[in-house]
Amino acid sequence: METIPDITIPAALLPADGRFGSGPSKVRSEAVAALAAEADDFLGTSHRQDTVKLVVAALRNGLLEMFNAPDGYEILLGNGGATLFWDAATFGLIRDRGQFLVSGEFSNKFAKAATLAPHLGDHEIIESEPGTAPSPVANADVDVYCYPHNETSTGVSFPVERPDADGLVLVDATSAAGGLRFDAANTDTYYFAPQKCFSSDGGLWLAMCSPAATERIDEIAATERWVPEILNLKTAMDNSRKDQTYNTPALATIFLALKYTEWVNENGGLDFAAGRSDQSASIMYSWADASEFASPFVSAAENRSHVVATIDLSDQVSADTVVAVLRANGILDTSGYRKLGRNQIRISMMPSIDPSDIEALTNCIDHVVAALS
Ligand SMILES: *Cc1c(COP(=O)(O)O)cnc(C)c1O
Repeated sequence: METIPDITIPAALLPADGRFGSGPSKVRSEAVAALAAEADDFLGTSHRQDTVKLVVAALRNGLLEMFNAPDGYEILLGNGGATLFWDAATFGLIRDRGQFLVSGEFSNKFAKAATLAPHLGDHEIIESEPGTAPSPVANADVDVYCYPHNETSTGVSFPVERPDADGLVLVDATSAAGGLRFDAANTDTYYFAPQKCFSSDGGLWLAMCSPAATERIDEIAATERWVPEILNLKTAMDNSRKDQTYNTPALATIFLALKYTEWVNENGGLDFAAGRSDQSASIMYSWADASEFASPFVSAAENRSHVVATIDLSDQVSADTVVAVLRANGILDTSGYRKLGRNQIRISMMPSIDPSDIEALTNCIDHVVAALS
């Protein structure tokens, strides 16, 4: 282990909150306090009774409001996070073949899960260099189009678009939901886990489904296809419609996700939340553009994510050292995605993070780099 240079960042420069991780991401203290206040009546109670079911109902309704969902869209939920949802979709939403847009780690994982599924046909994989975003292309031979709204590993956001074709559009919104604007009508399944923008904890998946998506779930469930019960979207749908989950959920996760939903909806909706991320992104990318040692990794400005920034550092500055010094000063989880293998830092700019803390972080990085040279 290399020793970490002994650099103390002056307290006046430090952000009010040191959590900048891209997942799990900052949980709002107000939400934790609300959970603590209601804990004795909520935690440790049955998820099949009204106390918890009313929270699930409020969450399902609040999400439809936040996402400005067209009539007939509904929220499904279950255990296992976004990673489980990929397998569930492989069993319960893909009829035979999908088109997968791959550019980075997370988009690749869903494509891989579907490719390994023996009950499915040959998929169409459209891959592009990390840092770019390919577009879906109409193809009469596929029945789903799959891409992320925000590729968390590379800091690229994808336009949420529907190709001019019949297939369902499945959007992995894990790091985007609740932080980036989109048109829900362009999606059939907008799914995510709530430990990122939603400022909650992991372990749950939530999916906004169009009528075409719920019909597809019913259609596949009526076939002979064997589906493990924990991955069965028809079972998840039946339970969700009763404001329950198939098996026991983490109650704190559901509660915290509702608190974020209320915070956003009470302050003006998705525009409010996305506006905070826009402000943070403007601070971050202007700083990097002007910096002598930092530059945005994503070259196309329109694809630069407003919720996860990936910033390359020049060869003279070691990202590992900067990240370690920041951590020693209470500024956490700023390292780049390992498998990308770049001299890079990665910063969450999700709505819970105050834009003034992003400003403070850039000042701290400048301080550390000056002290290192
Ligand atoms: C974090 C993340 C996932 C994985 O979420 P889990 O809840 O850990 O399964 C999937 N997709 C994207 C885009 C992510 O950012």
